[in-house]
Amino acid sequence: MVDVTVMGAGAFGLSVAWACAKRGAKVRVIDPNGVGAGASGGLVGALAPHTPENWNVKKAFQFESLIMAESWWAEVEAAGGVTAGYGRTGRIQPIRDAHALTLAKARAESAKELWQGKAIWAIVPQDSLGDWAPISPTGWLIHDTLTGRMFPRRACAALAAALIAKGAEITKEATPEGKVVWATGYEGLLALSDEMGKAVGNGVKGQAALLRLDQSKAPQLFADAVHIVPHADGTVAIGSTSERDFDNPTSTDAQLDAVLARAYAAVPALKEAEVIERWAGVRPRAKSRAPMLGEHPIRSGEFIANGGFKIGFGMGPKAGEVMADLVLEGKDAVPDAFRPEASL
Ligand SMILES: Cc1cc2nc3c(=O)[nH]c(=O)nc-3n(C[C@H](O)[C@H](O)[C@H](O)COP(=O)(O)OP(=O)(O)OC[C@H]3O[C@@H](n4cnc5c(N)ncnc54)[C@H](O)[C@@H]3O)c2cc1C
Repeated sequence: MVDVTVMGAGAFGLSVAWACAKRGAKVRVIDPNGVGAGASGGLVGALAPHTPENWNVKKAFQFESLIMAESWWAEVEAAGGVTAGYGRTGRIQPIRDAHALTLAKARAESAKELWQGKAIWAIVPQDSLGDWAPISPTGWLIHDTLTGRMFPRRACAALAAALIAKGAEITKEATPEGKVVWATGYEGLLALSDEMGKAVGNGVKGQAALLRLDQSKAPQLFADAVHIVPHADGTVAIGSTSERDFDNPTSTDAQLDAVLARAYAAVPALKEAEVIERWAGVRPRAKSRAPMLGEHPIRSGEFIANGGFKIGFGMGPKAGEVMADLVLEGKDAVPDAFRPEASL
């Protein structure tokens, strides 16, 4: 007998499935395209926090998720024996002018309280990072120790292995049984829009690239709105475009070249590295722009876990646990701003 069927084997579906399986539920995951076939099968994997200011429920939820990520991924890896490439390696950002420097200093102060001593937001001189430092007009950089990274498609494989080890079933085709959780990414948001007769969300395409360059211990960089993420396996990911209009969800084109050019301008050392993969996927964006978690608005006994948008992997651990609370125990700790109703 199956207690919970999760439709969709991406970051959100697998995280919900894992949180349920850990609590002893009998779980089935159904995805006609296989594990990590959607947005989650990519390669960027920045687990980066919102700025420590103007605190709100979304920022607090994400902060808790980022803090719990280390032990959560360690448990996943230990259960299934497959690495997710997780590491809390921190992040560096250039500071472009005097105004930005003043702002960065104020955020260093607010982080002391908002990040509860669990991570810091520091201002450091550019020359403390050698070649890996992005060009920073002020000569100063922001270094935060909250940001982590993992390799998205390996994280999906790690979750799938952990689920199998716990006795869950992952299949391309089966009948849903028990409580049903829809974690079907942007296609699910479009289907829900049809069902509700109004737009509740859409897809935002992103293109990214993978370079062969071993900076595995170095912090990731965020410069000129580009994520530059060193992975544990001697590669560096660079992303991403943000496209509301697209014909082909998986093609890459000159827009990715423009992202790479911005990365090369920020960190000249990257120019020497070989580009070994170009990849594109479609992020699920709810109308509210927040994650969409909770009971299905019209179908009783069914639930939705969607809307991870640009931070689905960062939100995954906490989203999974909150959904398991709701689906298995009827304990509803979903913030109002995250409920499907917030996008209706
Ligand atoms: C270029 C790019 C870079 C990104 N960078 C980051 C980053 O650095 N950090 C971060 O945290 N996030 C990042 N994201 C966002 C992150 O990838 C997404 O938020 C996350 O993958 C969403 O997971 P999901 O499980 O909701 O959706 P998906 O991974 O898209 O999974 C949905 C799954 O549902 C399946 N499906 C669809 N219809 C059905 C159906 N009817 N029945 C069963 N299954 C179905 C699909 O096959 C798919 O496998 C990035 C995204 C992109 C595209």
